[in-house]
Amino acid sequence: MPERRIMDAQEIQRSLSRIAHEILERNRGVEDLVLVGIHTRGVILSQLLEQNILRFEGNCAPLAELDINLYRDDLQARESPRVRPTKFPVDIRGKNVVLVDDVLFTGRTIRAALDALSDLGRPRQVQLAILVDRGHRELPIRADYVGKNVPTSLDEEVKVRLTETDQTEDVIIVKL
Ligand code: 5GP
Ligand code: MG
Repeated sequence: MPERRIMDAQEIQRSLSRIAHEILERNRGVEDLVLVGIHTRGVILSQLLEQNILRFEGNCAPLAELDINLYRDDLQARESPRVRPTKFPVDIRGKNVVLVDDVLFTGRTIRAALDALSDLGRPRQVQLAILVDRGHRELPIRADYVGKNVPTSLDEEVKVRLTETDQTEDVIIVKL
């Protein structure tokens, strides 16, 4: 199975540091900011962004988690649905919400995440932070903060490996 590495640990760390700065700049600090990680690696990335924000600002934004498998409209097309607890200890009404995920592909997960958010209240604004944008959008969705744009073909998969889940940290592209 041929694979190529597109980000190493240092590049991931630099991207997260840059995105944390961009989030702080665009939102003028952490006041009214909420970070919402999307299941598994989006949650971990939101925690890593949070650590950077705390380091730069001395203050951090509340974190929340969404389990999107419950809301996907094409569950049959991919992995079987799994229900995980959604941690949402924050009120998003009037807040600037930054959704965080590892890979942006068709855009369907983010569309589902927007649905899930709208059940929880009306944020002031919703922004999107993504580590890898692999293209192939099927909906009019784009990210506000991107670690790396990586053109891919449909027979490839992006593997995002993070220390917390994979005991290593890099991004590789695997030909299926
Ligand atoms: P979309 O809903 O935009 O088609 O796909 C994005 C969601 O599926 C994200 O939550 C992401 O984790 C996962 N995903 C889609 N394609 C890939 C991929 O090539 N690699 C990884 N790691 N995740 C993907
Ligand atoms: Mg995912």
